[in-house]
Amino acid sequence: MAKITRKTAPRKAPVPKKKAKPVAAKPKAPAKKSLKAMKPWTPAEVHEVFSRFRKANPEPKGELEHVNPFTLLVAVVLSAQATDAGVNKATRALFAIADTPQKMLDLGEERLREYIKTIGLYRTKAKNVIALSAKVLSEFGGEVPRTRAGIESLPGAGRKTANVVLNMAFGEHTMAVDTHVFRVGNRTGLAPGKTPLEVELGLEKVIPAEFMLHAHHWLILHGRYTCLARKPRCEVCLINDLCRWPEKTV
Ligand code: SF4
Repeated sequence: MAKITRKTAPRKAPVPKKKAKPVAAKPKAPAKKSLKAMKPWTPAEVHEVFSRFRKANPEPKGELEHVNPFTLLVAVVLSAQATDAGVNKATRALFAIADTPQKMLDLGEERLREYIKTIGLYRTKAKNVIALSAKVLSEFGGEVPRTRAGIESLPGAGRKTANVVLNMAFGEHTMAVDTHVFRVGNRTGLAPGKTPLEVELGLEKVIPAEFMLHAHHWLILHGRYTCLARKPRCEVCLINDLCRWPEKTV
């Protein structure tokens, strides 16, 4: 009897794995244990921290480029899950031709998409920017509303957008909590919280009024350049003697 030999199927060439797209880090809530373990700050210590921030940088500025409250609003809406530098790159040309709600509507959604296509979620954001421009014109007389409820009623704008616009455009003492502020509030023990809202309310409670106008920017800049997510630069940190983080490296 003829011997039956099995043919083995030719091996498929391995398919190279696709590189995962980097995803903006979501604020991570601190463990319950670490929240409890931290010694609360005294008012004098909090005052000291913000005095040091003020001394080092008396007039901190946000890094989102804008030319008026409307372009600030648009820039903040575009900045969700994107970097300020990436947004600025796209908005420089956009704001040169569309710096009012009417001009944005005249530009139209399709052309707007072309300007912002380098920003993540740009299709949805373009839709929101056109819709919010229409609403600012029809319901607020073409001016960005100066109230939290008014700003939050606009498409694409939430609590953080309202806090940034109220603070930067209208000088209100609001505290916008982004990923940096969330991390710094928790790590330092200044305002531990499991959600951005908890951290926001905690910071508002402990920071003296005299610092509130700039507190949001000091904390963002501190998180962006010193208290980095993976490798905080504790050795050059202005507040390393006061910080409560058990893992600080000094
Ligand atoms: S000491 Fe370290 S962990 Fe604490 S605030 Fe400074 S950089 Fe952040």
